[in-house]
Amino acid sequence: MAIRTRGGALGHQAHGSRLRSVQQPGRLPPGVASVLSVLSSSAVVVDSNDRVLRASAAARAFGLVKGDQLMVSELLALARQVRRDGEIREGVFEVPVPSASGRTTSFAVRVAPLGGVGGGGLVLVLADDQTESRRVDEVKRDFVANTSHELKTPVGALALLAETIEDAADDAEAVRRFASKMRQEAQRLTSLVQDLITLSRIQAVEPVPDPRPVSLDAVIAEAVDRCRMKANARGIALASGGSRGLVVLGDEDLLVTALLNLLENAVAYSPERTRVVVSARRAGEGNAELSVADQGIGIPERDLERIFERFYRVDPARSRATGGTGLGLAIVKHVMAAHNGKVTVRSTEGAGSAFTLSFPLRGERQEEPK
Ligand code: ADP
Repeated sequence: MAIRTRGGALGHQAHGSRLRSVQQPGRLPPGVASVLSVLSSSAVVVDSNDRVLRASAAARAFGLVKGDQLMVSELLALARQVRRDGEIREGVFEVPVPSASGRTTSFAVRVAPLGGVGGGGLVLVLADDQTESRRVDEVKRDFVANTSHELKTPVGALALLAETIEDAADDAEAVRRFASKMRQEAQRLTSLVQDLITLSRIQAVEPVPDPRPVSLDAVIAEAVDRCRMKANARGIALASGGSRGLVVLGDEDLLVTALLNLLENAVAYSPERTRVVVSARRAGEGNAELSVADQGIGIPERDLERIFERFYRVDPARSRATGGTGLGLAIVKHVMAAHNGKVTVRSTEGAGSAFTLSFPLRGERQEEPK
């Protein structure tokens, strides 16, 4: 537990005589209850006999308070110290989660006198659950660490290749070979930076701020067109089918990006001369689905949950060989969240995968295109 004292404005005010005189032991000062009820923190007021005078529902649910007792001994000790000297104190506490053996919740706590030294002896305890903000911090830290690592790999390779070219300056054939490898690494770097920009752009627009009607036919046509060269290079047939004329509300560029990522994966993780099929359909009440099915290597059951995480790859060597950044499916997931939709996957190892994008239909059918 870390405790800090603060002689801030509230601390000095607590020593003042104006507040000191208005306290009656065992009673809340007028207006305090209504102030406490609007605070987002769990709030507890303890009187001069260490009895809890008031506790928010959250403070009870978290197990900080039971009946009229503060249940965390360090908190009680802190409240007594504050009552004695009127100094505001802050600390971080691990509190056991009620009925979850071994688990704790981390609280940032502020304890302040509520009435001054020698007044009613009331002490206010404000506690904020830190679990979510810690998790977010952790995710950010991991992301920065992973991104730096991912950037280091191609940059390191470029430095090494440049050195090799210097050493082989007299061998024209070797220079050409290494220069071509340099180009590949530079391309990898470009894709990574591009995907990072796309990811941060999407996260900034969840949900899509200015959704417009988007024809799924147009999304399919554009994504298939942009994937055609990669598919042809591997002899993979790209086919589209299903319902036509479906319209959703959203951002066409983002939806094309999402579908293109799925198509490029389908091509990258399939053997040559197989088939990739993209199709649209109405699903249930007012929903549309776009799915991409391949006859590729499939995804092991245990990895299905994790493939949407940033930089998660089932087989890092294969992803590297195909020029993958590890961000494609994370981008797809965020695009779908921005459209009130979701992405799901079904896969059988060795037989193929089917990714499905589902989102609300705009509620209107366009003319059947000829
Ligand atoms: P990457 O750039 O590595 O392809 P993605 O985020 O697009 O990153 O995908 C994450 C991982 O999911 C891939 O590395 C791959 O292991 C797996 N994966 C994605 N799509 C498919 C697919 N159609 N078939 C098999 N595996 C796939």
